[in-house]
Amino acid sequence: QDLERYDPRLAEDLKRNVFFTKVEQVKAWARTRSLWPLTFGLACCAIEMMGTGAARYDFDRFGVIFRASPRHADLMIVAGTVTAKMAPVLRQLYDQMPEPKWVIAMGSCATCGGPYKDAYSVLNGVDKIVPVDVYVPGCPPTPPALLDGVELLRKKIRDEAAGKQVVKK
Ligand code: SF4
Repeated sequence: QDLERYDPRLAEDLKRNVFFTKVEQVKAWARTRSLWPLTFGLACCAIEMMGTGAARYDFDRFGVIFRASPRHADLMIVAGTVTAKMAPVLRQLYDQMPEPKWVIAMGSCATCGGPYKDAYSVLNGVDKIVPVDVYVPGCPPTPPALLDGVELLRKKIRDEAAGKQVVKK
């Protein structure tokens, strides 16, 4: 307030050009702009996930670049039906990802077993073996729905860094 009185122009410049934040928030900002998902297509939902990465929807423009190794990934997009046989492999790959890491359950199968929920060989939701941050509904979800899921995850990462209460969706 003193500065505003003595040098209003400088005070205005400072208001426009200087901001204060926490290191955690800067890190979260950077992370939300470079989410690297592990390629984890398990069934038909994977086709839509691949479509999201292709030219029309262009995942890359959000900094979302698919990785083939869990060591390079901080996001797992589980796209498809998780069978009991695949579950331990999925968990092992999740464990190999460095912290911090996030999981998106894409589609009904990954969320709750979908049309195969009564099959003896299918897990009723990938959240039985890994913690899920965002659920994207649909059978299959469209690329815009997946993009929306990623946007929700970005918001969650920013909110956590800001110390806000995060509601799981
Ligand atoms: Fe296929 Fe539907 Fe299951 Fe996706 S949710 S993997 S589209 S059956």
